[in-house]
Amino acid sequence: MGLGGYLNEAIEGVDRSMIPILPPALFIISLLASIMLSILWARQPAADLTEQPGRRKFLLGWAAVTGGVIGAAAVTVSRFSGWASTTVPALGAQVTTTDPNPHESWKNSHIRQLRPLGSTGFMVSDISAGSSLFTSHPEPVEFIASVLDRGVNYIDTSPDYAGTRAETVIGKAIAGRDRGGLFLATKWCTTAGHIRQGESVETYLAALEGSLERLGTDYVDLVHIHSCDSVDRLLDPNVHEAFEIAKSQGKARFMGVSTHTPNLEEVANAAINSKKFDVMMLAYHHGAWKNQVDIIDRAAAAGMGVVAMKTLKGAKHRGMVEFREEADSYSQAAFKWVLANPSVSCLVISFSNTQHIDEYLYASGKPLDKSDIAVLDKYNEQIAGTHCFAHCGECLSSCPEAVPINDILRHRMYFENYGDQKQAIELYAAIGKNANTCTTCASPCLDACPEGIPIRKRLLGAHQKLSLG
Ligand code: SF4
Ligand code: SF4
Repeated sequence: MGLGGYLNEAIEGVDRSMIPILPPALFIISLLASIMLSILWARQPAADLTEQPGRRKFLLGWAAVTGGVIGAAAVTVSRFSGWASTTVPALGAQVTTTDPNPHESWKNSHIRQLRPLGSTGFMVSDISAGSSLFTSHPEPVEFIASVLDRGVNYIDTSPDYAGTRAETVIGKAIAGRDRGGLFLATKWCTTAGHIRQGESVETYLAALEGSLERLGTDYVDLVHIHSCDSVDRLLDPNVHEAFEIAKSQGKARFMGVSTHTPNLEEVANAAINSKKFDVMMLAYHHGAWKNQVDIIDRAAAAGMGVVAMKTLKGAKHRGMVEFREEADSYSQAAFKWVLANPSVSCLVISFSNTQHIDEYLYASGKPLDKSDIAVLDKYNEQIAGTHCFAHCGECLSSCPEAVPINDILRHRMYFENYGDQKQAIELYAAIGKNANTCTTCASPCLDACPEGIPIRKRLLGAHQKLSLG
């Protein structure tokens, strides 16, 4: 069982540092010990006539060993049932993220607009690159280079994207390029995830050194406190001291914060008021609520760069039968809506194949028009009752078990709609209380979602997908 669990997760591509090594190690030790004991027992001469003769005993010993090995192999393989029921169907129904017949007019599209990134002095491409899917491409280094060649000049990454591989391939792709023409943003994270509040200054600085090494650069332009969920973490004196040290050493130029938690408003407002941050990255897509628009305006007015993420509002556009005709232009309409807000500096979107480059960059510098609005309205109709606003959190108080409903539904979105299954599984594995808790619950959350999401059903579905059965 232990070996099967380990192999299952390793095959899925889960970051090895996150898979406990003890169960497979115990398995191997006990299997070797039982084989040795069986052999020793079989080699002992028969003590008296009531025991089996030596040769027969030897054969029995080997039969026991063989039976043990076959049994262990069967149990090991049985742990792959989740892989068979979850990943194999998902592989068969790959998330289609691009039009199989891209429009002629999209070909060779490139960045047409640069916008100021707050007070940093850097002009950033309106459509910029997230990096969590770069490694899905069979030749990620060449692929990243081709994204940059089309004018994208801002890359957002993190030490824990694709198990450190995102930073590594970016480092190879930018080697030899004009470093000054590129804005590199990473996160205060280790390879295992966010650095928690209260960690030492040295921990932060060591994490940054790791990023610099993988990125093959002397400095990063921006370091975010990633997915910041509390004001205490936002203002942790240790992270700010670490930043000042890194800045004085020329290893980091600007400080940022990213947030999409239920505390988004509180965290974002505190970040603006603190005057300690140069850039804010937050979930922003068509259908944003008024306070969010106010936050973005105030951040821009305070000189902060505003980077929009999660701009495709769940990215379900390729998977809806009734939306086939509009799916081609949805991403472009969604991007134009985000960029129609002059307070937004740029948006980041993950590219994973060549068609993305043509499709996404076609929206660069283009205004939002009526046909775009019609596409977005239809999309909203289609996703009603299934899209969770990760930053909403209205349902959280209805759960006596404190299940992080919005986080789990966000990870389900990564799995189902973003095609980022490994990252989704890793993130889900790191969640303290998962959706297994819902199995025996009477569901007091039943009517808690104003969007009409059937929370328990969606969570159980998420658990089935994200825990590999
Ligand atoms: S399930 Fe509904 S109430 Fe809960 S966070 Fe998502 S959108 Fe908000
Ligand atoms: S069904 Fe799950 S999310 Fe809903 S109240 Fe029960 S434990 Fe919480």
